[in-house]
Amino acid sequence: MPGGLRAYVVAVVAAAVLVVAATAWTTPAPAWSWGWLGVLAAASALHLEASQGIERTRVVAVEGRPYAHLQSIWFFAGVLLLPLPALALLIGSGFAHEWFRVFRGKVPPHRKVFSAATVVLGSWTAQLAITALHPGGSGLARLDGPGGAAALLTAGLLYWLVNYALVVGAIILSHPEQPARKALGSPSDQLAIAAACGMGWLMALAMHHQPWAAPIGLVTILALHLGLLYPQYRRAAQTDPLTELVNTRWWHDRARDHLRRALAEHTPLAVLLIDLDHFKEVNDTHGHLVGDTVLRAVADTLRRTVRGTDLVGRVGGEEFAVLLPDTTLTAAAATAERVRTAVAALAVPLDQGAEAVTGLTVSIGAGAAPDNGTTLDQLRQTTDLALYEAKEAGRNAVRLASAVVEPIVETPR
Ligand code: GH3
Ligand code: MG
Ligand code: MG
Repeated sequence: MPGGLRAYVVAVVAAAVLVVAATAWTTPAPAWSWGWLGVLAAASALHLEASQGIERTRVVAVEGRPYAHLQSIWFFAGVLLLPLPALALLIGSGFAHEWFRVFRGKVPPHRKVFSAATVVLGSWTAQLAITALHPGGSGLARLDGPGGAAALLTAGLLYWLVNYALVVGAIILSHPEQPARKALGSPSDQLAIAAACGMGWLMALAMHHQPWAAPIGLVTILALHLGLLYPQYRRAAQTDPLTELVNTRWWHDRARDHLRRALAEHTPLAVLLIDLDHFKEVNDTHGHLVGDTVLRAVADTLRRTVRGTDLVGRVGGEEFAVLLPDTTLTAAAATAERVRTAVAALAVPLDQGAEAVTGLTVSIGAGAAPDNGTTLDQLRQTTDLALYEAKEAGRNAVRLASAVVEPIVETPR
């Protein structure tokens, strides 16, 4: 870690420890707070367990940006229900659990210690605001009326702002090469935190007034998190960002599923492997950005030329694969020919009166199960050979796979 960053991290963590220790010293936590702590910690752990699949998908996309912890629901409920020392335990255990289940091996633990410290400091300022703006009374009951609402709102804002500002500071220090704007992350993530604080307040209210209704709140939150976010992140995990086709991993996973089904049900299944001809020349002549535009245009052409039930994926830089369920090799050859002519006819418009890119061509290999392979590896191998033959034949051509490649058997020595 660079020296400046290290000093910053140590200062934030030390401040959090100091604040918690001082509070524990001056105001000992009442016995009832341990009960709330247990309930919130259990809810937070259940929430994390149920959503860790999504969270793992999500962290892949957030390096160099603030990560929106949905655990904030429970932390903010803790701000309203727990004294700071108990709340610090809730936050610490939540982050430790999250590190083990979601971030282990991807993020060094000291980052999570830092994040936990920022949340502790955010919580502390939130609690200070409540005490300052709305003194008197005890527990959540006092936070009523316009003054109570204003105190709550301020607490929510401070909880978010302190935490956010500290994290953005650390990201700017640790990624000096990236534009500072990126360190701010996306506004939608910050809205998610606002929603989490709001939900935390509702949960705290429910737990305070009707503790038996709390499980209903937990189930509601889980259903929202899984129901709304899961499809969105799964989509992000399967999509190639340039062409918006499915990415190579997703394509191969689906191809494997389809192949298994086709073999079991004795239905045909075909694949096309498509490689742009002399694509390097497009880049060399027009530059990489135009190359990318061409790739997008070709991807759109592929999508439009095949059936809705066929799956088009980007499986390499300028290589595409199409999965054709319920299709024989003969039918696949016709589709391949349609694709070849469609690409050859393509004129990719460029900005500002520049001439459109034309003369693009593809070479295509076509193969079908079971004749050209009964495993995806075999099928890819035979179809790859066909693609290679199409290239050898002078490109802008379709060739069909001819046989099953015998698996290479190692002879024991
Ligand atoms: P061939 O007909 O033999 O396939 O010739 P080729 O030039 O298409 O083949 P080669 O594999 O030598 O080059 C592929 C080129 O594709 C090289 C690389 O610059 C380009 N490429 C790969 N991915 C991308 C990308 O995402 N964007 C752009 N613009 N170009 C890419
Ligand atoms: Mg290639
Ligand atoms: Mg190529």
